[in-house]
Amino acid sequence: MLEPLRRIVQEVNRSSSLEHALSLIVQQVKQAVAADVCSVYLTDFDSREHVLQATDGLHPEAVGRVRLPLNRGLIGWVAERADAVNLEDAASHPRYLHVNETGEEQFRGFLGVPIVQSRKVLGVLVLRQAAPRPFNDDEVTFVITLAAQLAGAIAMARSTGELARLQHAGGPASRRFLEGLAAAPGIAFGTAFVVYPPADLDAVPDKPAADIEGEIDALREALTDVAEDIRTFAARLGDALREEDRALFTAWRLMLKSDTLVDDAIARIEAGNWAQGALRATIADHARVFDEMSDPYLRERAADLRDLGQRVLVRLQHEEAQLPEYPPRTILVGEEISAMQIAEVPRAALAGIVSSSGSGSSHMAILARGIGVPAAVGVVDLPVSRMEGTELIIDGYRGRVYVSPSASVRAEYERLSADDLALTSELDALRGLPCETTDGYNLPLFLNTGLVSEQRPLGIEESAGVGLYRTELPFMVRDRFPSEDNQTNHYRQVLATFAPRPVTIRTLDIGGDKPLSYFPVSESNPFLGWRGIRITRDNPQIFITQVRAMLRAAMGLDNLQILLPMITTVDEVDDALLLIERAHAELRDEGLDVDMPPIGVMIEVPAAVYQADALARRVQFLSVGTNDLTQYLLAVDRNNAHVAALYDDLHPAVLEALIMVLAGARAHGREVSVCGEMAGDPLAAVLLLGMGVHSLSMGAGSLLRVKGVIRSMSRIRARELLRVALHCETGHAVRRLLIEALDDIGLGGLVRPGR
Ligand code: PEP
Ligand code: MG
Repeated sequence: MLEPLRRIVQEVNRSSSLEHALSLIVQQVKQAVAADVCSVYLTDFDSREHVLQATDGLHPEAVGRVRLPLNRGLIGWVAERADAVNLEDAASHPRYLHVNETGEEQFRGFLGVPIVQSRKVLGVLVLRQAAPRPFNDDEVTFVITLAAQLAGAIAMARSTGELARLQHAGGPASRRFLEGLAAAPGIAFGTAFVVYPPADLDAVPDKPAADIEGEIDALREALTDVAEDIRTFAARLGDALREEDRALFTAWRLMLKSDTLVDDAIARIEAGNWAQGALRATIADHARVFDEMSDPYLRERAADLRDLGQRVLVRLQHEEAQLPEYPPRTILVGEEISAMQIAEVPRAALAGIVSSSGSGSSHMAILARGIGVPAAVGVVDLPVSRMEGTELIIDGYRGRVYVSPSASVRAEYERLSADDLALTSELDALRGLPCETTDGYNLPLFLNTGLVSEQRPLGIEESAGVGLYRTELPFMVRDRFPSEDNQTNHYRQVLATFAPRPVTIRTLDIGGDKPLSYFPVSESNPFLGWRGIRITRDNPQIFITQVRAMLRAAMGLDNLQILLPMITTVDEVDDALLLIERAHAELRDEGLDVDMPPIGVMIEVPAAVYQADALARRVQFLSVGTNDLTQYLLAVDRNNAHVAALYDDLHPAVLEALIMVLAGARAHGREVSVCGEMAGDPLAAVLLLGMGVHSLSMGAGSLLRVKGVIRSMSRIRARELLRVALHCETGHAVRRLLIEALDDIGLGGLVRPGR
């Protein structure tokens, strides 16, 4: 059954609409399992009914008409149990409900499988057969697998309003919102601008064609160029090609020139789509025709066609290399959005960010918070390819995205946005005041920066310096490793901007979700792989060049501190220290008056927590990277939206780990800073104050909020709250405790979403 399964899954994934996907499923499953009926019922949560949405075998006119109350009949029973029900004879089951219009009385065997997404039953897939027998195990697992595939398509259709339209012939789609994760606070109104990875045909969105004739010419040219490339390849291979392979090259050229393909693509452009979007849709449609063929040789041609489409796309994108025009209130929308794509939008035009991947602790979210742009990430049902130019509202407090919002939604958010402005001006009153508790303890707040190139990073005046300068960006924005001079200039600028305040520059932390295009690393588990110090230790030349640049940049300023990321063993620190000393000695030998800066270790791997003592003995300070520490302690990928609910830096294990780190550092009189996102959370900051963390480092957008909390609280009260928090057994209980405590002093508004 593997082959039909593969084929059906492929076709469902490529379906242009839910309706098409459903009709494919019912026909092909019925055929594959040799059943007499296959039907799909979908849940209408508004009317609390299961609606017969597609069938092959029951009366077709019943589709859309048969609506069963949620808890009635066998369909209701499957949904209630959220488990498959396999019966020899449906009619003899106590929950059986006879429905007249379907013509089902002639069938006896019954298999009902729930369609489930994120623990929610979205519908039921049903097979029937005339014979009184249950379905066999193979058939059951086959249908369960398909139901899981279908769940994704249904969830997507629900979020875009397609399902509502199907079920109600025009539902109130504009009231609906897409649910994601809150990544950066604030409310944004704007226009979607879709970004996508280059050279990926499936990722190309639909966009209106600005110049129809121009787009047609570009497409024709790209097709001709690729056909020409193929001729050149074939000629280059010459006699080495067997006759049948030569025929294949000819077939590819013919495919590219085929009237149906070219005319189809041009018709799409004439209908208003740009060349790249028209190409994507045309290739998908034509490849689907090959996919549906039963001859395996012809089915293979689908892959050829997609490959050809990819090549044509590369040509088109090469031609279109000029910088895009961003709408005045741009909301960047994409599956994944890179720091570079964010940095490319003029700051004044960037209103918000929405992505279907990521979570609140992914680098994209950190960057959004750092530059104060509202963001929702992990919006898994985001119909990226259809969003270009649509009007959006982002609720960055709740992680919601409204597509083409109604007037009432817009009015509601305008009110919330006005409240936001009022809070901002209250916070503004804190500018310039010390970050001091009510009992006179000073907790310095530092800035995290570096993820985006800023001339004058926001928050300069408010911070005690830079607690974490991430150096990846200067490496990511180029096509090769930057030279020592180039890096020196870059670091000098940051050090000079903040001097005499200290600036902690972290050595390169590529790997994980920050790859370098010119240093490709392919791993199935990048966050557990070659990352941070592991890469630079294996490539000492990269490390030494970077450290030399830092030391040279700090000459005469004397405000540099160096931080080592992803430390797991003391050997890594010992090796890094040797290399730093070597760089220092080399520069001295070259006659440069460089100083040896304080060195720190990031505590972000659980192993380092247990060895905080041994690590603290080797260096001058520790800095806790709670983003990774939480990810590794809880075994929750910080970028995975599906497990984002489990990611919690107030989890008791994280709190205990911090206490252990502080104890290790104390044994050697070393200071501990927290530079993960936890430091910028006003709730968590209270606990960190209570623990005796020496400084906090955070994105610019959090500085005033955290200052507001610290200035309203005594250190004694923070310690009391910590004592209670350490008795809590869940992160949820810790959060509740802290929210209540802030509510008591009138600061609930600082942390509550959706004010
Ligand atoms: C962290 O892991 O907490 C941290 C500050 O580093 P990054 O977010 O860059 O991995
Ligand atoms: Mg980290």
